Amino acid sequence: MKILLADAFDASLPETLRKYGEVTADAAQLPEADIVLIRSKTKATKEYIDQAAKMKMIIRGGVGLDNVDVPYCKEKGIVVKNTPEASSIAVAELAFAMMIAVPNRLIEAHNSMKEGKWLKKELKRTELYGKTLGLIGCGRIGAEVAKRALAFGMKVIGYDPVVTKSDNIELKPSLDAMLPLCDYISLHTPVNDQTKGMINKNTIAKMKKGVVFINTGRGKCIVEQDVVDALTSGQMACYATDVWFSDPPPPDSPLLKAPNMLMAPHIGASSNENLLRIGKQVDQIIGEFVAGK
Ligand code: NAD
Repeated sequence: MKILLADAFDASLPETLRKYGEVTADAAQLPEADIVLIRSKTKATKEYIDQAAKMKMIIRGGVGLDNVDVPYCKEKGIVVKNTPEASSIAVAELAFAMMIAVPNRLIEAHNSMKEGKWLKKELKRTELYGKTLGLIGCGRIGAEVAKRALAFGMKVIGYDPVVTKSDNIELKPSLDAMLPLCDYISLHTPVNDQTKGMINKNTIAKMKKGVVFINTGRGKCIVEQDVVDALTSGQMACYATDVWFSDPPPPDSPLLKAPNMLMAPHIGASSNENLLRIGKQVDQIIGEFVAGK
């Protein structure tokens, strides 16, 4: 059995998987690989899958399968798996790190000190305590963000068409019912027909003026130009994002030059601990596959 690690995984994974056969990171061996492991970088399109003539299983280390042509895999009898539970804490911590960094003006404080400035009077902060956080998507990651926000004394509300019960989140019946109430909004949905472009000039107009919007979900859930316009007008005080329309964004993406942005290069799942967790789940999935379960 040959296992191809097409993307970056924890350094310990090749050794862990050696019990199943040969493990390689050489992309040229795709045609001989029985199992292919990918994260976000590799796009398992029809063309990619056609090159993998012997592939029996493809595993995406992470949440979601938007970079895998799942119907085509099914057609070819290829088993498709992912590791949806592993990344919740890593992504929730990044969303919360962004939520703390913005009102504490950490980036401006750091950059001004590097420039030799002492902005003690100018850099007035605001607190998260007592503010309202709205979660769009109250699944695994949304629920982890809620726990952290409650520990900071925030009021946590949310909208999710599927989740109807939560101990930590006061669920609202619609997005429209939630948007006007929030000081902070954090998005945790996949991209699908309902969520694609859901943050646009109409929904942004329903938000409180000066809202801080955090996106660690998917870049395609927003309309980029509408967010840029809202940042320019002050309707949105900050757009903090880890996710982009495409990875990386093209140099002419309007977001890169917009004011009041906080940006990260899609690192939500990239904690050392998460890469280890993903590795453990991949080992378990391959173990079950080999055992014929
Ligand atoms: P999950 O499936 O547990 O939760 C997603 C929730 O979104 C579900 O409860 C679903 O009902 C809800 N939802 C779907 N459509 C909605 C809509 N129109 N409005 C409101 N809610 C809606 O998934 P999860 O593990 O919490 O992950 C959430 C998302 O985070 C993933 O789909 C992925 O896009 C993103 N993600 C990003 C990173 C990163 O590196 N930044 C890493 C992992 C996951």
